[in-house]
Amino acid sequence: MLITVGLTLVGCRIEETKEVEKIGPLHIVVTTGIIKNTLDNIVQSHCEVTALMGPGTDPHIYKPTPGDVELLDEADVIVANGLHLEGKMAEMLEKYGAEKPVIFVADGLSEEDVISTADMDDAKDPHIWFDTKIWMKGMAYVTDELGKIDSSIDSTIHLNYQEYKDEIKKLDKWVAESLDSLNDASRVLVTSHDAFSYFGRRYKMKVKGIQGVSTLSEVGLKEVSEMVDFLIDRKIKSIFTETSTSDKTAQSIVEGCAAKGYQVAIKGPLYSDALGEPDSDAGTYIGMIQANVRTIVEGLK
Ligand code: ZN
Repeated sequence: MLITVGLTLVGCRIEETKEVEKIGPLHIVVTTGIIKNTLDNIVQSHCEVTALMGPGTDPHIYKPTPGDVELLDEADVIVANGLHLEGKMAEMLEKYGAEKPVIFVADGLSEEDVISTADMDDAKDPHIWFDTKIWMKGMAYVTDELGKIDSSIDSTIHLNYQEYKDEIKKLDKWVAESLDSLNDASRVLVTSHDAFSYFGRRYKMKVKGIQGVSTLSEVGLKEVSEMVDFLIDRKIKSIFTETSTSDKTAQSIVEGCAAKGYQVAIKGPLYSDALGEPDSDAGTYIGMIQANVRTIVEGLK
């Protein structure tokens, strides 16, 4: 009889511990550092956010490590960019979607927000973080979804979202003003891969990527020679490298220009698909955009 009571008590205690654990902070596992930093500003200490991809990582070709799979297994919620940015993880994310919430930032966008492109599966450009307004629209959706999953943090994370959005509005204004120091002919951004179309649309810059929207495709001689002619024709002063892609093609374009008697500089790197090191200027979403704009203005002025 006594033994039975004891067991029941132990059983009760175990039940209680489980409940407490469930109320604790959500563990959110995200794909890119850009998502992590934005989300950190929104959830602050109320959730724990871990990113799979670190500084300088190319998300188009990223394959999860066994450690990543462990993190994804243990996550309460997964947040990804979507629009095939995480090209090699698509199937895996779908699989997790059957077990736990998987939120895609891009699911918060409407059709006219998203830029179409011919070179990727699904024909959508995934680099949505370069239009700060669209990025925050996607993040509003993520915030709503997280609030539904844990209603105890719903109002707090919505307040944090608003505060962060105000900061992003200031950033947006600063970017537009900084780029206004360039004359119309100089508002041309040639980069390693086509990551800046959203940036170009928002801030009225012509954008040309050497490698296409995904880094998966190889660059041919024809593309290099067309780019050389374009640069000479437009008298563009600089082209830009990126932290997460190879500089080889940029080098062959400079050589192609030199062979025709035109000097073009390689500037950068620009932060395209990954943040800089955590303690650097580009270690945050806001810092990354600011660092890029400074590099662009300096290179094209
Ligand atoms: Zn990219």
